Amino acid sequence: MPARVIDGKSFAADLRQQIAKNVVELKTEHGITPGLAVVLVGDDPASQVYVRNKGAQTVEAGMMSFEHRLPADTTQDQLMTLIGQLNADPGVHGILVQLPLPRHLDADLVINAIEPIKDVDGFTVQNVGRLATGQTSLVACTPLGCLMLLRHQLGDLSGLHAVIVGRSNIVGKPMAQLLLSDNATVTIAHSRTKNLRDVCGGADILVAAVGRPRMIPGDWIKPGATVIDVGINRVSDGAKSRLVGDVDFDTAIEVAGAITPVPGGVGPMTIACLLANTLVACRRANGLPDAAP
Ligand code: NDP
Repeated sequence: MPARVIDGKSFAADLRQQIAKNVVELKTEHGITPGLAVVLVGDDPASQVYVRNKGAQTVEAGMMSFEHRLPADTTQDQLMTLIGQLNADPGVHGILVQLPLPRHLDADLVINAIEPIKDVDGFTVQNVGRLATGQTSLVACTPLGCLMLLRHQLGDLSGLHAVIVGRSNIVGKPMAQLLLSDNATVTIAHSRTKNLRDVCGGADILVAAVGRPRMIPGDWIKPGATVIDVGINRVSDGAKSRLVGDVDFDTAIEVAGAITPVPGGVGPMTIACLLANTLVACRRANGLPDAAP
């Protein structure tokens, strides 16, 4: 029987609706409106699309959206000054700096200048460290979205063997921490991993975050496994181009128990989780407990 296709698009739409309800409550009960500031430096076309989508969905959820579009020749000092201003602004509860930054800017310095309680991307060393040590943190949006889909699909993840292919700071590593804290047994694979096929074949949960089109074929997948495909790769398809994941969907669907499609799987969860993090950051800044979105 072919795998169940995990509909991230509809899951994300439900999540955004729930967040919007919470935002209304926050306004009526406490007179607070969450605010998200997005900083874009330069004119990278893909980044411009992401920032536009983030702004539109922030407003749709009833939050304030503050967009700061800076020219490509913005200096490190100018950017750090802006981050300082956003840190001090009580109307801004979340700050996101769109990556990649132009080469002359030090992204680590900029990201770590963000107040950890406003770091809705979960990229500061403080939040990464807090996640790794099991303390309350803001968690990177893409792995958080993957975890939500996995919990929804599988319920309790205890004792399941999760294999994550990819060890980036923004996906692979935080994904491993999240699965570990949900009591999965976690293996992280990367470009130096030997016998990747066998490693993948042992996974009850397989998370692919590599950036190589259709790298993982169906015959690497354990029958019945749950497959989360984070990869977004543009490939040419005749005269047109289209998006594919890191997993070969057509063969994987014949073997897996459940699988996320690309597009329409993990992608929509990322922005929904950004909004969820902004809501959480706003509630914490105002001394309110986290509300389950
Ligand atoms: P990175 O390039 O930062 O990391 C890729 C990882 O894959 C590295 O750890 C690398 O290993 C590993 N890798 C590369 N080649 C191989 C190989 N042949 N075998 C095993 N491992 C390999 O990518 P990101 O984590 O930023 O992104 C991964 C994918 O996810 C991309 O397609 C990206 O577009 C997508 N993405 C999607 C998001 C969404 O919202 N859905 C959000 C973020 C990313 P090593 O460390 O050894 O180099």
